[in-house]
Amino acid sequence: MHFGMTEEQSMIVDTTRAFVENEIYPHELETERSGRLDLDLVKEIQTKAIEAGLYAANMPEEVGGAGLDTLSWLLYEKELGRANYALHWTGVARPSNILLAGTDAQKEQYLYPCIRGEKWDCLAMTEPGAGSDLRGMTASARKDGEDWVLNGTKHFISHADIADFAIVFMATGEEDTPRGKKKKITAFFVDKGTPGFSVREGYRNVSHRGYSNAVLEFDDCRLPASAILGEVDKGFDVANTWLGATRLQVAATCLGRADRALTHAVEYAAERRQFGQQIGKFQGISFKLADMATELKAANLLTWEAGWKFDQGTVTESDMSMAKLKATEMLAMVADEAIQIHGGMGLMDELPLERIWRDARVERIWEGTSEIQRHIISREMLRPLGG
Ligand SMILES: Cc1cc2nc3c(=O)[nH]c(=O)nc-3n(C[C@H](O)[C@H](O)[C@H](O)COP(=O)(O)OP(=O)(O)OC[C@H]3O[C@@H](n4cnc5c(N)ncnc54)[C@H](O)[C@@H]3O)c2cc1C
Repeated sequence: MHFGMTEEQSMIVDTTRAFVENEIYPHELETERSGRLDLDLVKEIQTKAIEAGLYAANMPEEVGGAGLDTLSWLLYEKELGRANYALHWTGVARPSNILLAGTDAQKEQYLYPCIRGEKWDCLAMTEPGAGSDLRGMTASARKDGEDWVLNGTKHFISHADIADFAIVFMATGEEDTPRGKKKKITAFFVDKGTPGFSVREGYRNVSHRGYSNAVLEFDDCRLPASAILGEVDKGFDVANTWLGATRLQVAATCLGRADRALTHAVEYAAERRQFGQQIGKFQGISFKLADMATELKAANLLTWEAGWKFDQGTVTESDMSMAKLKATEMLAMVADEAIQIHGGMGLMDELPLERIWRDARVERIWEGTSEIQRHIISREMLRPLGG
């Protein structure tokens, strides 16, 4: 076993950290306070990220990305994860891997412009009536001659307001299985401006200010068959093949934020004095630091191991769920304790801690709730025993 970083990985970490500190941190407070994403600023960050080779670095080299292995990609995600989410997600975008599943024509239309920073994608699965149980979706696509006609509503769709197109999952029928009826799902590319497709403002969210969510409405939205991503009725196959590692991406960004919160907590514990001594000398504070560091290390190791196994082709669903579960729950604990160590100052927005604490909340919900991750982990344990 080898736990050290390669020279190249150290360089990726250093370059990404410097970029985040120099180009994103200075704009965080304004974005947090206004709750608005300044698109001129985003374009500036984007241009610098492209120059630095950091934009769309998750993508393979042959399509214009950095060609990182999974572990190196996660190290890069960890560094980006330190910063305000809205700014790093748009300014240093990582287009969805699912775009790699497109045909050559779809890659020309969607993938390459996303890599060049000319377009943004968004991905729409969730509906008001179908969250964890995505197969329960009711938004549908019906074949009409050579075309497909889409109807229904998606909600909670991240950054759909600024995206140029959406990858939308629609029910396209039902099949009988030994466990009863199962919806068949198909994925479609839908461009903004397509008649019958509208995007309206979503909900105000406690986490990730400036990173909006939207409601997508489909009202007899007609698409050609060439808009299908993957095969008809195989939408979940294409999602499972290409979106598997997204849970690791969530885990990695949480590691970055937790590390930032812990650094603040350690510095404050060493600097702040009460009752004539540094507060870090009180066991009530120093033991918190020890627990935070231990939890963070455990989450790091689970994430790096899953990333490493991903490239060996040996990763399991359970490995990825454990990493996501641990990292997101660890972040909640570390953010909360970091505030406790800072006392009242921890709640003030001069420091990034109240934001990290708020932002931590959504991580246990999106990309599969903590309960769903536990379901996946326990299912893998029980299935061989007939459970
Ligand atoms: C800010 C934000 C952005 C998002 N962005 C996107 C996006 O871009 N695209 C997209 O498609 N979706 C997006 N989502 C949706 C997200 O993936 C869902 O919110 C998530 O999957 C949970 O679905 P739900 O909110 O409907 O909760 P529900 O599924 O209704 O769950 C409610 C509660 O029941 C529990 N529960 C459900 N089923 C089980 C079970 N089998 N066992 C135990 N407990 C269970 C859940 O864990 C949860 O605690 C976003 C959500 C948020 C909040």
